[in-house]
Amino acid sequence: MRVLVVEDDPVLADGLLHILHQSKYAVTHERNGKRADSLLAVQEFDLVILDMGLPDMDGTEVLRRLRHRKNKVPVLILTARDKVQDCVQSLDMGADDYLTKPFDLPELEARVRSLIRRGHSAGGAQLQVGPLSMDTVGQRVTLNGKPLELSAREFNVLEILMLRVGRVVSKEQLCLQLSGLGELVSNNAIEVYIHRLRKNLKPGGIKIRTLRSLGYLMENS
Ligand code: CA
Repeated sequence: MRVLVVEDDPVLADGLLHILHQSKYAVTHERNGKRADSLLAVQEFDLVILDMGLPDMDGTEVLRRLRHRKNKVPVLILTARDKVQDCVQSLDMGADDYLTKPFDLPELEARVRSLIRRGHSAGGAQLQVGPLSMDTVGQRVTLNGKPLELSAREFNVLEILMLRVGRVVSKEQLCLQLSGLGELVSNNAIEVYIHRLRKNLKPGGIKIRTLRSLGYLMENS
């Protein structure tokens, strides 16, 4: 697995490289946006971890050029906590996920694993949680082999929860990911989607727990 880390902060970059090496990824590190762009034009990676604020060319432009070349490599954006608007913009431009700094390295590791898995199954991505199956390409969901009728938004929320099964997904993450797909989504709307999904998933024994002030957790009981 080849991972490109584009990060100009030396301390953060060190931490990232350390944990990625430990996970046995082949890691390339680039500090400069322009050089990262040149590298991405000629070399293939399984994942790009991309900081937004970079010398010479910012992460947004690196991402824009990457997608312009029809390169579909999964991209995980790193951004400062006060630049949430950047996340929305980057998801709009084809980033796959984002983390706000500071973040826990185990959380990063989990996102990396999930993105690499997703990238490799692209073209026929099938997600499975107990009796619940999702074909992310054909946009079909079945529970115990029976199709579920979901709206596009409910489908998107369910996909995010399934990709992170057993881990907490914050309401803010859901809002941002959905907003990246189109118009802004409110916290109240998320609650409605979760409520409907719970009803749909109940017969399969799949639970979406609410963890106060933390977010949602999907569990297969
Ligand atoms: Ca930076």
